Formats: sequence, structure tokens, C-alpha cells
Amino acid sequence: PPFPIPLSGPVQHGFGRGGKDLGCPTANLPDESLLHMSEITQTGVYYGYARVYPPEGADKPLSEQDAKVLPMVMSLGWNPFYKNERLTAEVHIMHDFASDFYGYYLKALVLGYIRPELDYISREALIVDIEMDKRVALNSVTRPAYEKFQDDPFFQS
Ligand code: ADP
Ligand code: MG
Repeated sequence: PPFPIPLSGPVQHGFGRGGKDLGCPTANLPDESLLHMSEITQTGVYYGYARVYPPEGADKPLSEQDAKVLPMVMSLGWNPFYKNERLTAEVHIMHDFASDFYGYYLKALVLGYIRPELDYISREALIVDIEMDKRVALNSVTRPAYEKFQDDPFFQS
């Protein structure tokens, strides 16, 4: 696939299904933001960088830490709510944010593929894989060939 792939849009509410209980909240992007991904029908887990931007007329600005370009893992899957006819992208940013950022603008630069989607027999098995994905993503984006994408013009605006 033609990496890097840019995605962006306002963060939407998901189904609230356990992201936070799993220690892995995932910011949902709207369908329209996935047009660039349309050539990519390979579902699964991807890695890259992401940045959160305050929405127009926000009353509270983001802290310096929360406003950085940060490593992320993203899951791309078919949305069961739309009879599996639409893709859904959920982005977990590897950073401890001061608060939720629903409605904020999110930009993500997808840099590579980690693994296909799997079905899990247990919550524990899922958590083990999520932790592994985070390590793989961090290791990947901090390699010199990828670090430069942190300063990509895509994130300057
Ligand atoms: P939902 O089903 O609404 O997506 P989640 O449990 O997946 O619920 O939580 C996602 C929300 O958590 C995001 O929209 C964002 O506002 C917030 N959040 C806080 N920290 C993070 C993070 N590190 N990565 C992604 N989202 C985060
Ligand atoms: Mg989510």
C-alpha cells in the first residue's frame, strides 16, 4: 500500500465498547475521513503518528504535551453497525491525555501494517495482543526512517 496515508477528521463517539476498560481508548474518525484508505481493504492493525487539534472556537487550549505529534496504533475494520459495508478506523494514541477530546480534530499519518484482525476467545488474550501492538508501533515509529514523519508538513497547520 502507498504509505504514508493521511487521515483526518473530527473525533466522534464510538460504541463506548470497552476501549477505556481495556486500557486502550480509541478515537473514532468519521467515514468521510477514510476516503484515502479506500484502496486499502486490508483490515487489521496499523501504526503511525497522530496529532490532536483544538476545534474552532475551543475554550480550553491543549497542553503542550497533548498537542504534540505522537505515536499511534490504529485498527481498521468493517463496521458491524453498517452490515459490514463500511470501514471504521479507531486510533489509540500512545500518550496519557489530560482529558477526553471528543469533537477535537485528529490527524493521523498511517505508516505501516502490523497484523490482521483476529477474533479473541478471551479478554486477556486481546489485552496481550494490544500490548504487543503498542510495543511494535513504538519500536517502528522511533526508527530513524520513520521519525522524520513527526515533522511532516501534514501536521503543521
Ligand atoms: P468510544 O467508543 O466513544 O470511542 P473509547 O472508550 O474508545 O470510547 O474512548 C475513546 C475516547 O477517549 C476518544 O474519543 C478520546 O476522546 C479519549 N481518549 C483519551 N485518551 C486517549 C488516547 N490515548 N487515545 C485515543 N483516545 C483517547
Ligand atoms: Mg473508541
